[in-house]
Amino acid sequence: MIKFTPILLALLYGLVMYRFSVWRTKRTLDSQSTELADPVLKGLMDRMAASLDLKRIRVNIYEIDPVNGLAAPDGRIFLTRGFYRKYKAGEVTAEELASVIAHELGHVALGHSRRRMIDFSGQNALRTALAMILSRYIPFVGAFVANFLMSLLAAGLSRKDEYEADAYASALLVKSGIGTAPQKSLFKKLETLTGANGAAAPVWLMSHPKTAERIAAIEANEARWLSPGQDV
Ligand SMILES: [Zn+2]
Repeated sequence: MIKFTPILLALLYGLVMYRFSVWRTKRTLDSQSTELADPVLKGLMDRMAASLDLKRIRVNIYEIDPVNGLAAPDGRIFLTRGFYRKYKAGEVTAEELASVIAHELGHVALGHSRRRMIDFSGQNALRTALAMILSRYIPFVGAFVANFLMSLLAAGLSRKDEYEADAYASALLVKSGIGTAPQKSLFKKLETLTGANGAAAPVWLMSHPKTAERIAAIEANEARWLSPGQDV
């Protein structure tokens, strides 16, 4: 039993950190956000809501500058003020912003946002336990090896989620008559916007797979959906 105490402590620590981070995220989002109210965007969101048999889609503006969209563990969707400003400045179209909302809706519908928080706490606990065990056999580098193994696992998990959310967004955009063109043009646009100044790379792009690969995946889906058997 004594042998397993460090692992139990690590798991307990992970659980406490998880509860705390859920609470802190919710508090920050509550105090620093307002509902998005833009007539043009609302028109697009209503079309997506109709495709999903929902009365409406509620999106909140999160008052921070970095260009990002996020799905909270409780299922709420947020666009940052920085992203909305790009739209207001004409750098990003309403349809392109709608594609971000569709992508975040995908994360919620597919259960990613909830699972991701669990993964995060699970990963922390596993990382700590792994580091403790590895350190006994390989002093000093054990913690690094544990970190490395865990980041590989996390990267694999999030990549898969991103492609799934993209596919969900494509299907929703097609069904709503918006199409996938804005989804693809946004990826290219964000990449060029940051091309001149790497330091200002939008977080939304950095936390996601490579642009070219995402566009290729969207096109592969479209090709599959328009299967050769169909007369269209
Ligand atoms: Zn995503």
